[in-house]
Amino acid sequence: MAMNGRDTAVVTYDDARAALAAWKADFPSDPYHDDAALRSILARSLSAERMSALDVRASSFARTLVLVVAPAAQRYEQRTHLPELSRYDGLGNRTESVSFDPAYHEAGVAVWGSGVVALSNEPGRAYEQATLLYLLSLESEAGHACPVTCTIGLARALRRSASPDVRERFLPALVDPQYELAERGAQFLTEVQGGSDVGANECVAIANIDGETYRISGEKWFCSVANADQFFITARVPGGPTGTRGLGSFVAPRMIDGQPNGFTLRRLKDKLGTRGLASGEIDFEDALAWPVGPVEEGFRTAVSVVLNTSRWMTAVGSAGIMRRAVLEARSFAKHREAFGVSIEQFPAMRRTLADMAATSAGALHLVFALTELEDRIDAGTASADDVLYHRFLVNTAKYLVSRQATSVVRSGIEVLGGNGTIEDFSVLPRLYRDAIVYESWEGTHNVLAAQVLNDLRRLPILDVVEARLLACFDTAPATDLVGTLRRRLGDVNASARECRDDDEFASWHFRDVLDQIGLLAEVAYLFAAHDLAAANHLLTNSSPGYDPATDAGLAGRVNAVLDSGGVTGSSPS
Ligand SMILES: Cc1cc2nc3c(=O)[nH]c(=O)nc-3n(C[C@H](O)[C@H](O)[C@H](O)COP(=O)(O)OP(=O)(O)OC[C@H]3O[C@@H](n4cnc5c(N)ncnc54)[C@H](O)[C@@H]3O)c2cc1C
Repeated sequence: MAMNGRDTAVVTYDDARAALAAWKADFPSDPYHDDAALRSILARSLSAERMSALDVRASSFARTLVLVVAPAAQRYEQRTHLPELSRYDGLGNRTESVSFDPAYHEAGVAVWGSGVVALSNEPGRAYEQATLLYLLSLESEAGHACPVTCTIGLARALRRSASPDVRERFLPALVDPQYELAERGAQFLTEVQGGSDVGANECVAIANIDGETYRISGEKWFCSVANADQFFITARVPGGPTGTRGLGSFVAPRMIDGQPNGFTLRRLKDKLGTRGLASGEIDFEDALAWPVGPVEEGFRTAVSVVLNTSRWMTAVGSAGIMRRAVLEARSFAKHREAFGVSIEQFPAMRRTLADMAATSAGALHLVFALTELEDRIDAGTASADDVLYHRFLVNTAKYLVSRQATSVVRSGIEVLGGNGTIEDFSVLPRLYRDAIVYESWEGTHNVLAAQVLNDLRRLPILDVVEARLLACFDTAPATDLVGTLRRRLGDVNASARECRDDDEFASWHFRDVLDQIGLLAEVAYLFAAHDLAAANHLLTNSSPGYDPATDAGLAGRVNAVLDSGGVTGSSPS
């Protein structure tokens, strides 16, 4: 075959297969050590002592991930090895349980052994937890990543909001580092009438006469970690206000005296992605439950602790998914040849790889800016402005980064060509399916955008956002682009204020404005970290009126991103 009149060298079948094998072998044996950008974020943020402890923990987990979790997940994520409903034991006793492929439990031992959940027992360990979850997400391993997230959310809610008695009853088993002994948490809010409109919940919680416990009845429609040992449930207390204000937050053990605690697992859902984990529909009838914090503050507990923890971790997981897609694509492009040259030499391919790398880099910085706030809030050292900024960032990061993940993985699949669509060729199809699910759960895009808008209207958040981003620009190296950034921030702020003050304008335009603010935040953090190549590329790509045809600097920008040793530029060679 010839292209542009140039004959290509003869490539044998064996050569082609050897190139593919070399590509597979490129994946780092320690993806934590290989991630220069992640380690430099952590080194800037943590004390030397904390950093060196995390180095050991993360490196060990990263190696186990490659050796144990990756092959296990490859098996239990296949359609033929998915979790199955197992409602009775061999003697006909009702168990309402879920059975998993043994490989699932092998991975579970490794994941729980990393300490990612057990660290929830100590306030202010968000950096460690985010790092471990990010690494786990390189494998697109939602089978345990989701239970990890739900358990951390429930543990935090018990630690921060529950009465001492309730905390003592439920928390210790959740934070046990041993997989076989640890209990797993789940969080059930969504009902068939709607997940976004949680205020439409119909599940009821009736107080028992002991003045301590409740009986929960009703149906929950999306119950991930259907095998969990403890369920966090929102339910309406009769006689209370309508809407979300009338919802309490409760924890119910799965089993009481060896019997299922007033629930029936109706069926497991057949999902597009996150297949390794069991998501079901559950009917509750008089399930015994304990309140998590004051019942009248139930919705607040559900959102500010449980849901926000899941949003943070979903954003972190989405950034991990992106990093994996970049590693796969860069390495494949280096080894794959077409028309006699490696495909990474084609400018169009280089452009795609650079776009992926810069987006992934921006997302990494954004989710760790959020992690810094999570760390301080959990440790009880956050300022009032930190709390406001967190309110903005947790929704914005989940909204933006989950969408970016799908888009970056799709580009990765494009880089691998037809092979990219094949399930046992690479992890990319699984990453893609999971990324789409990540977009939906813990709040859909419109709902998160509406939440941010609502907050901007009620609270002085825009001032805090502006101050935080300006602080990033101030620490950035002197470059012409800082002026552009300041102007963009002024423009975006003006649009956000218009949305805040004009309902009609906001209802049509706010998502565009949120895209712009989120992207600008990513660029600001890249600048502050001196990753000028990625910052410049992301900023220029997203400039209003940007015309690729007249961007004379495009080749330079692309090469700078791909040649930089920073963030996702560190290719696995
Ligand atoms: C695999 C999977 C696992 C899940 N696990 C759990 C779980 O364990 N626990 C749990 O509680 N939930 C779980 N969920 C449910 C998830 O949280 C909901 O799917 C999500 O909150 C959206 O709710 P919904 O699906 O009912 O969509 P709907 O609320 O019906 O929304 C449909 C569409 O309407 C849009 N929309 C809604 N309101 C507005 C508005 N005001 N303006 C503009 N657009 C709007 C939404 O953005 C969305 O695009 C899971 C979901 C999935 C896919």
